[in-house]
Amino acid sequence: MLSFEAARAKVIETVRSRVATARPSRNSETIEFASDPSRVLGRVVAEIVAADREYPPFDRAMRDGFAVRASEVAAAGARLRLIGESRAGVPFSGELQLGTCVQIMTGAPAPAGADSVVMIEHTRMEGDTVVFDRPAVAGKNVVRAGVENHAGDALLRPGTRLGYPELAMAAQAGRTRIAVTPKPRVAILSTGDEIIGVGETPGPFQIRNSNCVSLAAQASLAGAETILLGNAPDDAAAIRHAVEKGLQADVLVLSGGVSVGKYDLVEPVLKDLGAEFIFDAVAIRPGRPAVFALCQGKPVFGLPGNPVSTMVTFELFVRPAIETLSGLTPQPLPVLRAKLRHAVDLKPPLTHFVGARVSWPEGEPWVEVLPSESSGDIGRVTRGNCYMVVHESKRVLEAGEWVDVLPRQGAL
Ligand code: AMP
Ligand code: MG
Repeated sequence: MLSFEAARAKVIETVRSRVATARPSRNSETIEFASDPSRVLGRVVAEIVAADREYPPFDRAMRDGFAVRASEVAAAGARLRLIGESRAGVPFSGELQLGTCVQIMTGAPAPAGADSVVMIEHTRMEGDTVVFDRPAVAGKNVVRAGVENHAGDALLRPGTRLGYPELAMAAQAGRTRIAVTPKPRVAILSTGDEIIGVGETPGPFQIRNSNCVSLAAQASLAGAETILLGNAPDDAAAIRHAVEKGLQADVLVLSGGVSVGKYDLVEPVLKDLGAEFIFDAVAIRPGRPAVFALCQGKPVFGLPGNPVSTMVTFELFVRPAIETLSGLTPQPLPVLRAKLRHAVDLKPPLTHFVGARVSWPEGEPWVEVLPSESSGDIGRVTRGNCYMVVHESKRVLEAGEWVDVLPRQGAL
């Protein structure tokens, strides 16, 4: 059976090389963002954003103090006549003459001829003369024009996700609009005779459709536009009909119906539709029966219906597919290390993702597994902030051992 790492790599490679919509420059849209950055926050850049000028645009003071020629302040006690000031937006006009200095504020242009700024804390005034308590160092407290970038430099490249610093960079380059890749459209379909709508009143053996909600939320966080197809009963014709609708989107994600039970019909239906199965089991718990297939050119995921399985398998396999379709290069899972609070002994030879909580009681990260009676316990995830990853090769762990921890997005 595939390891989760191998399964994840197969998803990324298959989507990258075989799904046509994976080309990021196609159908990019240009969006005005300066008046409302949330319009493009999290989107993926589809063009090169180039610098319109060098940066900083002038030699810039990093401290409040006095602009000097360092060679004239070679020793403590040096004295220079103060002849003017330079403040942000209003530079000193003219060149620094021998024997003189200019008062300068943080962010202000250094006058021509000055090569150092001495902090005001290291000076004192005597009439119109500045007395320096310590020698100046050439280059100190001045950022030279163009050290951050030259005009024409690529500041942002296609395939970059727009976070706040990327937006600041685009704004610094004078951009009010930016081209971004289209959001992949992800159709979400649950299956199960027992599943009812969230707003409906359940009968004694019915279950509310929480998976459609968690999947749609996870897909949006991953950068997708979601299409909620609701639930199909455990009936091949009904599932087939809904799957055909879902195949109009860029990705189809199903929940439930992928185990080996008599009423687990997702795989037979996909087979009927000519799907090519890339995998239909992964050596993980929860989530072992997870399915990934290409059907009519579209990536299709069949995730187990147990709510925690659905959440975990989405993060491991569906997220990187959405990222790839958005034009991103998926990064390795952001695994952290923490010390295990209690010993664990996990039986089945699979890699386990266990709802857990990391805290830093004395500055060091400790992880504790949260108690739970059931594998589908959403509460174990809401009370936690991560999944502890217990690898198949080492499932008996002592208290105090360092273990892998996968942060839950937004919780850690
Ligand atoms: P399945 O993968 O279809 O065998 O479902 C496994 C378990 O997950 C069953 O107990 C289901 O009731 C539960 N389940 C399946 N689909 C959903 C759903 N859409 N929302 C919440 N729970 C579900
Ligand atoms: Mg089911």
